[in-house]
Amino acid sequence: MTTLTFLGTGGAMSLSRTHSTVLVGERYLLDCSPTSVAQLKRAGLRPDCVEAVFLSHFHADHTFGLPFLLLERAFKHVVERPLVVVGPPGMARYGAQLVEMAFPGIGERILAESRVKWVEVRDGADGLVRESANGPVLAWEAVSVEHCSLPSFGYRLLQNDTLLAYSGDTGLCEGLFRLADGVDALVVEMNCWERSFPGHMNREDVRSLLRRTTARRVILTHIDDEPDAQVAGAEMAAELQRVDVRAGARLAA
Ligand SMILES: [Zn+2]
Repeated sequence: MTTLTFLGTGGAMSLSRTHSTVLVGERYLLDCSPTSVAQLKRAGLRPDCVEAVFLSHFHADHTFGLPFLLLERAFKHVVERPLVVVGPPGMARYGAQLVEMAFPGIGERILAESRVKWVEVRDGADGLVRESANGPVLAWEAVSVEHCSLPSFGYRLLQNDTLLAYSGDTGLCEGLFRLADGVDALVVEMNCWERSFPGHMNREDVRSLLRRTTARRVILTHIDDEPDAQVAGAEMAAELQRVDVRAGARLAA
């Protein structure tokens, strides 16, 4: 888990970026946007490399790639290991409905043959994903954040000595500071540049975050309004950019 690949870095209505999704190492997806499977292939990876998906909330720009990911696992690749999909309360029902709506008539087969296993979280829920029988373990924790009055979560991920956090969509809130506490890298949304949009961050929110956070690196993604400039102290993710996030990796200039 030493690299992040930004498969997409845009918000729901971005002009020039594909929808935001991050690949951690080559096994874990943070959200599963409508464009994420195509972007995985552009990055030279097969969709069946993914072993766990962490969904922040049930908005389309974060989840509508899931039917395509499961379709590939069901019909294109032979998969033996389950795909763990971690998400908000109601995850199993939402996931099954999404697949049935996307591919009526073959939904049940996709769900069975993709070997999907749903995990529903609440604030503070945690768990482990093991890469293979004796392989490394990824430890995760869900942290509640504030977005559009619906259950929304960020995730803290720990593997070896690297601790990461991912905000999903959120406004500036106490949950975000809790999420970012002491991490080697925080991936956080900045949907807006100047304008305010409830449940999202803008550049002033990012500056406030930078003043208080104990995260060692802050990387911005989920960008709808193209920034006029960099935000000092933060890095701006680019499409298909691969970033080294090992513990102690240096802040980019
Ligand atoms: Zn979004």
